[in-house]
Amino acid sequence: MEDRPGRPATMKMNLKDMLPEELEAWVVAQGEKPFRARQLIRWMYQKCVADFSEMTDLSKELRAKMSASAELPSLELITQQHSAQGDTEKFLFRLPDGNAVETVLMHFDEHLGPGRATLCISTQVGCAMGCVFCASGQAGVLRNLRTWEITEQVVQVQRAIMPRGERVANVVYMGIGEPLANYANTLRSLRLLNHAEGLAIGMRHIAVSTSGIVPNILKLAREKFPLRLAISLHAPNDELRTKLVPINQVYPLASLMDACRQYYDLTGRRITFEYVLIRDVNDDAALAHQTGQLLQGIHSLVNIIPLNPVEGYEGQRPSNNRIREFQQIIESYGIKTTVRQEMGTDIDAACGQLRRKATQILSGRTLSASRRAARAS
Ligand code: SAH
Ligand code: SF4
Repeated sequence: MEDRPGRPATMKMNLKDMLPEELEAWVVAQGEKPFRARQLIRWMYQKCVADFSEMTDLSKELRAKMSASAELPSLELITQQHSAQGDTEKFLFRLPDGNAVETVLMHFDEHLGPGRATLCISTQVGCAMGCVFCASGQAGVLRNLRTWEITEQVVQVQRAIMPRGERVANVVYMGIGEPLANYANTLRSLRLLNHAEGLAIGMRHIAVSTSGIVPNILKLAREKFPLRLAISLHAPNDELRTKLVPINQVYPLASLMDACRQYYDLTGRRITFEYVLIRDVNDDAALAHQTGQLLQGIHSLVNIIPLNPVEGYEGQRPSNNRIREFQQIIESYGIKTTVRQEMGTDIDAACGQLRRKATQILSGRTLSASRRAARAS
């Protein structure tokens, strides 16, 4: 799989792919003072400017020198859709190689206060994990996103919403792809998003969701970031979980739960377990009891996500009674639960509904355009 598409033909340095300390080393190597790196970071991540010419506190000579040797690549916004309720916006971005990724902005969290939104970002073009109910993995994975392609989703959305007096306050790694299958770039992107002179998004305002790549959960634990780790559980026994989340075959529940315990020991952070509830597949009372038992002794929160509809998967959302019953049984084990509210389903922006649109983009058509065409015919 192509991870690093390589330097562009111009051989200019991509400043957006550098961690702050790397940027500082590069700036110094150019014969400039180290503080220039901090200035660049502020322009790139706080003011979200697109070009060196906008960096007005750098001299004209320095700007000219920078643009001769370095570049500030960006993602091109292809479409921006709003959900009917107005609580969700979906952005489709074109990557430099012609592939595309989706990013979803959510305005629903009243705890965040006005103007503060949550952004759901992607980490890969597609996904190799093949969870049966998820649209992102239906066409497999094409490549990992590079660090800057992950962080630039935040920069571009921030740039788009700044004029409205809004800002990205929370970031969740729950878009297309498995973040811990692109571990190195995910980690670098976390550091960049968190950097005090950049976007300065606190680790407590970042969530990383994984289908359970055990060795990388342990690596992440050793970073001791106070971020929110979410484990996509979806079933409390290996037989059922392997059917729904095939990576369970490689990292079965015993090893996953052991990694969760170690994660908690190292970070002291409660773990969120996500459970996509599918009618007559994983929603019966016995499975709720099994889930409660499995999580005994782990400081956890169970986030129940009633299945969002996905083309190509026939599973259905359970009734509200079933959802409530499942929730109550888990809570009877002393475990906190939440039920994810449905949002953005009308624009396919809900969990599991994002898909890579490489083929549509490459042929010059977006999925929504092809849907409109299908509806019209
Ligand atoms: N790959 C990571 C993060 C992206 S998916 C992971 O799997 O955790 C984010 C969440 O959406 C996961 O919990 C995933 O299982 C869930 N999800 C996938 N498809 C869904 C669907 N059709 N309905 C509801 N949730 C879904
Ligand atoms: Fe990949 Fe997550 Fe979708 Fe599974 S649920 S296919 S891991 S994006």
